[in-house]
Amino acid sequence: MARLIDRRDALARLSHFTGGLSALAFTNQTIRAQAQSPEFAPTIPGPDPAPRAPTFRASPLTCDTHCHIFGPVAQYPYAATRPYTPPEAPLPAFKALHARIGVERAVIVNATTYGRDNRVILDAIAQSNGRYRGIGNVDERMTDRELEALAAGGLDGCRFTFISRLGGRPDMDAFDRLVLRIAPLGWHVDLYLEAALLDELVPRLEALPVPYVIDHMGLVDASAGLEQPGFKKLLALLARDEKCWVKITGPERVSRTGPPFHDAVPFARKLVATAPRRVLWGTDWPHPNVPFMPNDGDLMDLVPMYAPDEHTRRLLLVENPARLFRFRS
Ligand SMILES: [Zn+2]
Repeated sequence: MARLIDRRDALARLSHFTGGLSALAFTNQTIRAQAQSPEFAPTIPGPDPAPRAPTFRASPLTCDTHCHIFGPVAQYPYAATRPYTPPEAPLPAFKALHARIGVERAVIVNATTYGRDNRVILDAIAQSNGRYRGIGNVDERMTDRELEALAAGGLDGCRFTFISRLGGRPDMDAFDRLVLRIAPLGWHVDLYLEAALLDELVPRLEALPVPYVIDHMGLVDASAGLEQPGFKKLLALLARDEKCWVKITGPERVSRTGPPFHDAVPFARKLVATAPRRVLWGTDWPHPNVPFMPNDGDLMDLVPMYAPDEHTRRLLLVENPARLFRFRS
């Protein structure tokens, strides 16, 4: 479970990180400026600002399918009602991170901190020369015209969270109605849920008219082992439903032993082996609300453990995301 860290603690950790990589040093300045505005004072720590260069060299066109951009808040203020307040992690820091670890494409997932305001990801996609796509936040008040504009702006789907800390499950009738409205856009739904919920959700998921992506390996608890019922449900669903995709992300959320998160590897490996054409890799940078803050270089170095052969790694890093997120080659 995410550890709650008070603001002073968060800021102390942030300043501890500042001795690192100069390419990211400016993030500290933006964080300090942001901290002066009480409205946006961070309630969680930011990422490790000194990602080490990974040993593993990812293929060209490797895609980080799950990452976020926060701020600058002066330009992209967080929603008035939000479950947490992250330190700014703006586009220049996002680009520096990807350059450092060898990522050329990204899918920016709009965080719950932005409510239904998708400008921060739309602007980044517009400036990316086709290198970024996005997953937005939508609700029933949006018109079909507004949804079409999001699709034209590079979004391939929308996200629903079922996590109590982020506001709990969506209104499922509204969910069903929205799914029908996004289907003609060629979108999928991105689902942030715990695999234990699958017991109840599987019939609904199998009946969906669109593909669905389950984030962060269904947030299984690595200490409960590969035979835990939620993980078995997830594997079975992935094996039999061609609409089901799983993000091989968030080992720091699955791990109970901490860095370098090797206790999460068997879960990733099993998912990849079960459906090598429907798994996606990502960093989840800047790692909001994690129990252990990872170094993104370490995360990249887990990839060869998830997918030991080169063909499968290419599917995971390049070909699967290109297909689901409609990158133009
Ligand atoms: Zn995330």
